[in-house]
Amino acid sequence: MSSIEVVAERCVGCELCVKACLYDAIEMVDGVAVIKDNCTLCGACVEPCKFDAILLRESHREEDSLEDYAGVWVVAEQREGEIHGVSYELLGKGRELADARGSELSAVLLGHDLGDAPRALIEHGADTVYLVDDPSLKDYLDEPYANAVTALIESHRPEIVLTGATSVGRSLIPRVAIQVRTGLTADCTGLEIDDAEGLLLQTRPAFGGNIMATIICPRHRPQMATVRHKVMKALEPDPARKGEIVSERLDPSLLETRTEFVEFVRDLTQAVNIAEADVIVSGGRGLGGPENFEMLQKLAGVLGGAVGASRAAVDAGWIPYSHQVGQTGKTVQPKLYVACGISGAVQHLAGMQSSKTIIAINRDPDAPIFKVATYGIVGDVKEVVPLLTRKLSAALS
Ligand code: FAD
Repeated sequence: MSSIEVVAERCVGCELCVKACLYDAIEMVDGVAVIKDNCTLCGACVEPCKFDAILLRESHREEDSLEDYAGVWVVAEQREGEIHGVSYELLGKGRELADARGSELSAVLLGHDLGDAPRALIEHGADTVYLVDDPSLKDYLDEPYANAVTALIESHRPEIVLTGATSVGRSLIPRVAIQVRTGLTADCTGLEIDDAEGLLLQTRPAFGGNIMATIICPRHRPQMATVRHKVMKALEPDPARKGEIVSERLDPSLLETRTEFVEFVRDLTQAVNIAEADVIVSGGRGLGGPENFEMLQKLAGVLGGAVGASRAAVDAGWIPYSHQVGQTGKTVQPKLYVACGISGAVQHLAGMQSSKTIIAINRDPDAPIFKVATYGIVGDVKEVVPLLTRKLSAALS
């Protein structure tokens, strides 16, 4: 693991390092610089020191070369032994990437008393599961989880590491990336292997979603990326699939933490979690006001679905943020997405365009939403939605 050290004999107490540190992580004690616990190992203090008194040891050993790294890893996420859906989706994509590289697909699973969870990862595509089972890993905590994943990466050297862009993934994986001194591309919407050089092509929206950027990590390993839930597709589980579960033992000091897990509080503010819904009826500015979300509720009720919204509707205060679909809202992948009075801005499309069937209702025949729609209805939502609700209600009953 990377580390930093002040060579006390060389330090002259000039305080240039203190000024260079963006995190207030260096203090002077008896005229000598001392690195505090909140140091991020960013290295900003090393160059300003004219006396070579600060030594940053990077985790990559000198003899490492890119060829020493092989295999695709998914760092799986679990709560009380239940694997998060995004981990299965990443295994689906990881399988493609591993096959393209002619390498193995592995999952990393941390926790305690995880029952059948490792087996479930194999059924969803993993060849190997690296399992760390320890009471200190029962609930997610940044330090032990990041140290454990770092240690596993350093000993096995995977070429690619993928993690879900969940609250846990977003907290965990940047720490790991910094500890192993590599890059990380967050919230990818596309992952592919470049035929020429075998690099991971990591595509994600950039500049407010106005362009799609493809990012590569050519000089460091592993190549690391996060992907949101519902962006990739999971494989159908195969109970007959064979794989290996490798129990890993780590140095107990790696699992120590300065924080304490107090309590898990479930978010009960959402009646329906749109990220999990099979049918979503979404409304945009074209609804004209909050009262018209009621007709979307009725249509969603008939279809057994949930109500979503564009950011314009959320920003207008017509519906709470928890319903927002898109780049700064939720990414959804229902079987049916009905977009009512939504223009189809790229930031909205980023959150719903991988839905299986998309029906768009818009009075403007040139609205961009029609470009991604499976079926388009040109008309006024206030007429079309109640009509559709009546017809579907009659047909389904
Ligand atoms: P509009 O673009 O105003 O479209 C309204 C549509 O309704 C029009 O197409 C119009 O023809 C139609 N219409 C009007 N009246 C009727 C009627 N009576 N019947 C039928 N059709 C009608 N947006 C999101 O949705 N989600 C995000 O997460 C998101 N994140 C963003 C992040 C950034 C950094 C930025 C810059 C923007 C983001 N946006 C997001 C905003 C996005 O750019 C659009 O402004 C927004 O999606 C527009 O919402 P809308 O389609 O409801 O409204």
